[in-house]
Amino acid sequence: MALHGHDPKIYGVEDLVLLSTIDLNNVVDNLRIRFQKGRIYTYIGEVLIAVNPYRNLNIYEKDTVDKYKGREIYERSPHVFAIADSAYRSMKRFGRDSCIVISGESGAGKTETSKIIMRYLAAITNVQQQGEIERVKNVLLRSNCILEAFGCAKTNRNDNSSRFGKYMHINFDYEGDPIGGNISNYLLEKSRVVRQQTGERNFHVFYQLINGADDNLLRGFGLEKSAKKFYFLNQGNSEKVASINDSRDFAEVQSALRSISKFDRNDVESMWSVIAGLIHLGNIKFRDSDNSSGAVSVSDKVAIQNAAKCLSVTPDELVKSLTSQVVAAHGDIVKKQHDVNAAYYTRDALAKALYERLFSWVVSQINESINVQTSSKYSKSHVIGVLDIYGFEIFGSNSFEQLCINYCNEKLQQLFIELVLKQEQEEYEREGIKWQKIEYFNNKVICDLVEVPRTGILSILDEACASIGNVTDKVFLGEMDKKLKNHRHYTSRTLKQSDKSMGFEEFRITHYAGDVTYSVLGFMDKNKDTLFQDLKRLLYNSKNRLIKSLFPDGSKSMSEVNRRPPTAGYLFKNSMSELVKQLAQKEPHYIRCIKPNDEKNSSVFDKERVEHQVLYLGLLENVRVRRAGFAHRMPYDRFINRYKLICPTTWPNARYRQAPNATCTEILRHVNLANDCVEGKTKIFIRSPQTVFNLEELREQKL
Ligand code: ADP
Ligand code: MG
Repeated sequence: MALHGHDPKIYGVEDLVLLSTIDLNNVVDNLRIRFQKGRIYTYIGEVLIAVNPYRNLNIYEKDTVDKYKGREIYERSPHVFAIADSAYRSMKRFGRDSCIVISGESGAGKTETSKIIMRYLAAITNVQQQGEIERVKNVLLRSNCILEAFGCAKTNRNDNSSRFGKYMHINFDYEGDPIGGNISNYLLEKSRVVRQQTGERNFHVFYQLINGADDNLLRGFGLEKSAKKFYFLNQGNSEKVASINDSRDFAEVQSALRSISKFDRNDVESMWSVIAGLIHLGNIKFRDSDNSSGAVSVSDKVAIQNAAKCLSVTPDELVKSLTSQVVAAHGDIVKKQHDVNAAYYTRDALAKALYERLFSWVVSQINESINVQTSSKYSKSHVIGVLDIYGFEIFGSNSFEQLCINYCNEKLQQLFIELVLKQEQEEYEREGIKWQKIEYFNNKVICDLVEVPRTGILSILDEACASIGNVTDKVFLGEMDKKLKNHRHYTSRTLKQSDKSMGFEEFRITHYAGDVTYSVLGFMDKNKDTLFQDLKRLLYNSKNRLIKSLFPDGSKSMSEVNRRPPTAGYLFKNSMSELVKQLAQKEPHYIRCIKPNDEKNSSVFDKERVEHQVLYLGLLENVRVRRAGFAHRMPYDRFINRYKLICPTTWPNARYRQAPNATCTEILRHVNLANDCVEGKTKIFIRSPQTVFNLEELREQKL
């Protein structure tokens, strides 16, 4: 079939449903052929597959926008614009809330895709150029570089890897113009502030400040233009990234901050001051004290002084809260001195909490700016949600954060399975069509492994965190081994002594996307996520208004403090189930991103890597379900418009007194294809792709 005038022998098929044989080889080969021709998009029905091109293609400009605007999906070649337009049209025409779920592993192109969608929606709306709507659009588009500065970092998978999950809601009025929105952020990987693996960096924002700020500003913060000198910035030994221009990005972020009125100038200055303070915190060193008090002392006075200045606290207070802790014991309040390890631990906890709260503040300022001043003129009608979340990842060393990220991807895969099957099934039912069910690998069993009460990993972890006594990460591992030893998707070294690829402090989950080995070390700490009250009080007492406002809980006295706040795992699990609920209520549109190689290379198509992704994303099953019953379906009027020219009795005008289904069948009978088609209530269903080929060929001959 030569849809849109492109020969499938040269360009591959535009919808995988049209392949003559569905197997891994054919699917991957088709993606390869298209990738090599710069055609990175391919459909499975209405699901879009996007292969990361790793180069700028000229396919997102205004002429392309015009080509896709207001068009049905099948009218044009596969493109992300078609999906965005389809979401937009179904919202505007049928008043449905819709969402676009973008999935794929780290570096596959999710974040770029979400930005392309935002730009498309901005380009096709507000044709009347209303001022307030332009302002909202401007915030939606420009806030992105701020979010990326704070929430993205160079990892070994991706130079601009999202280290937080983002779900963006855009509200539209009855005219279909954007009148506001909201960003939800999910679990920021805050451990990155204090620790980076080799080849990786801290969040971009730190390097932007160091490289982009003018000398005056830097001097005021006691900083110099050398990331190498700062421990929180140099651990990965890759401060400079070829694809990133930190100083240009700094200017862009500054200008975006200025253009969003909710960021007041003082607050922005404080924000940079916090970033500078964090950089200095990393250089604070501790050593055992020379005298016999057993206390630790600070060995680098300059770092303490600079950090204290940037955070607007006194150096003494800062030292005190880093080296000791006030605890309540048997009704008494006593001061406990830290040893060197505890002091470092405290320093890092302070840095992580401060950064996390600053990030949430940034998001909330953006959120407050996105909504138009309420007036009856702009009444909210419907919503498009765009989900861009961290992709499935396997690192050299995987910890609690990776477990959360990979669990999140399991949940999204689960939703995909349910919705794609459900939608398909519902359509057949709605149209009164019989169909045959296709078996899927259902990853619910892995979601359960992580999340069920009592015997799920997060539950076992919470239990370990709540126990008193000397419960260590290894004890927690032992508990998992006990409760999960018969689980098909869980194993550990203790359970499988022969497997020397695991250490004794590791466990392994067989995720839908592959095996991941996690080290339990640090799990309990990260889950408890406690921040000593001393640190909260320290920052609550900061002379800086912004910093103080980030720590309202610092005003509490020891006796008021909640001893057992909800754990990080518990909160994450709840936010995931909330997210899934949100998505499930909307009409879903799916974009499945694929990474062609691990070298960020625009000309390499690594067959094995792509095969693996095609398999775990369930794309083969997706094609099969789509084809199980029917490869193609089309509303009657569209079918008639497209094919009436191949039948003399319907060309140029179909007999108007005849019902549309009868006209369709008349056309199909004339070309001897009626046997392969079934009439639904509003659509004609075509069983084999060959029939579509034939119809298209007949049509081409007449053109
Ligand atoms: P993810 O969010 O899935 O981890 P990103 O969206 O950050 O991945 O993409 C990683 C990199 O791949 C980008 O920085 C960009 O260089 C490249 N890339 C992704 N999608 C595209 C695209 N459509 N066009 C050009 N380059 C792209
Ligand atoms: Mg991303």
